[in-house]
Amino acid sequence: MSGPTQGATTEADHPLRVVPQPTPESQPFWDACARHELVIQRCRSCGRFWFPPSNHCQHCWSEDFAWEPVSGRGELYTFTVYRRAYAPELAEQLPYVVGVVELEQGPRLITNIVDREPGDVRVGMPVEVVFLDFPAGVTLHAFRPRENSRTPSTRAV
Ligand SMILES: [Zn+2]
Repeated sequence: MSGPTQGATTEADHPLRVVPQPTPESQPFWDACARHELVIQRCRSCGRFWFPPSNHCQHCWSEDFAWEPVSGRGELYTFTVYRRAYAPELAEQLPYVVGVVELEQGPRLITNIVDREPGDVRVGMPVEVVFLDFPAGVTLHAFRPRENSRTPSTRAV
């Protein structure tokens, strides 16, 4: 089920300003990012996936789960363009896109959308995970539009 996107990397063209603070529940997620692998939790009782990380299934409350590699493909569920630096550490990155990506497996992740001008980002566009390696030794996930995913013209022929 692993797609060709696993391990894809896009250039981290800016310094890392905000470092994730893993919890015991989210540590496996960040460890996988460092390997350029997207993993999410899947319940061994009901079979469903969920995100964000927690110590029990968010569907049936079972504590029997596994971290599973996923395709890293999904669709952009919604997004917003940040044009103002609510956090001063992010000022030089403006404008940037924060989106909610719905993975093929169902869960939604809040993430950055990269490799596309903010004005060309569209709800529903197919996206894939990429991994940003920062010099500080931290790897973050982000999503970019998939190949051939430019929004087709809606002009009538
Ligand atoms: Zn479950």
